[in-house]
Amino acid sequence: VTVSELELALASVERRIVDACTRAGRARNEVQLIAVSKRKPAQQIREAYALGLRDFGENYVQELAAKHAELADLPELRWHMIGHLQTNKAKSVVPIVHAIHTVDSERLGRELERRAAASGHRARVFIEVNLAGEAQKSGCIPADLPALITALARCPSLELVGLMTIPPVAETAEATRPRFAQLCALARSQTVPLARLSMGMSLDFEVAIEEGATDIRVGTALFGARTIATNAPR
Ligand SMILES: *Cc1c(COP(=O)(O)O)cnc(C)c1O
Repeated sequence: VTVSELELALASVERRIVDACTRAGRARNEVQLIAVSKRKPAQQIREAYALGLRDFGENYVQELAAKHAELADLPELRWHMIGHLQTNKAKSVVPIVHAIHTVDSERLGRELERRAAASGHRARVFIEVNLAGEAQKSGCIPADLPALITALARCPSLELVGLMTIPPVAETAEATRPRFAQLCALARSQTVPLARLSMGMSLDFEVAIEEGATDIRVGTALFGARTIATNAPR
């Protein structure tokens, strides 16, 4: 999108965030907007930064590392890893991100701990929860959450800040509301404080905010549609 399109889109998203916060009786500063920049050029991120955005989400380690290097001159930029993370990629991610939203196994947790300790970084992590137990999706199923929390508590270089989810695709944002409420209830029922809830995307972030989201991940509503692979159905 052009700079002026981006400016308009940002103003619109910002207005929708404020309105959702108002409806929920929440303060605007309780919600962090993460601009999802996957498959968008670094120049677009630079323009978004100039408009005041600071938090950017990426899904693929290689793309994240390349953009991190290209945008190293932007001092306040914070990267969020929001895609599935393979254990063997933990090493390259830990030193360059502000938070990792997709921890879903003890094995990955232990590897992140090892890499964080070695690089002197403290890694902020979310546990990704697969609420509906969808086979094709990553994420820890709710029943396994207590054990994973216990394991991460034994990792001094990891700071577990909350839970993240990508709900099943639904027809309407309203249809997803019970999933957001479920993640919120799940967080509150654990034995450790889990203050942050990473949930809500372009189509449903307002409902997510109403149900307690602290970190919304918004791509399309800011940067427009992502290019489709040529062999994908249209
Ligand atoms: C791509 C992606 C988003 C952004 O989705 P939009 O619908 O474009 O807002 C959010 N979260 C995750 C995990 C993603 O992969």
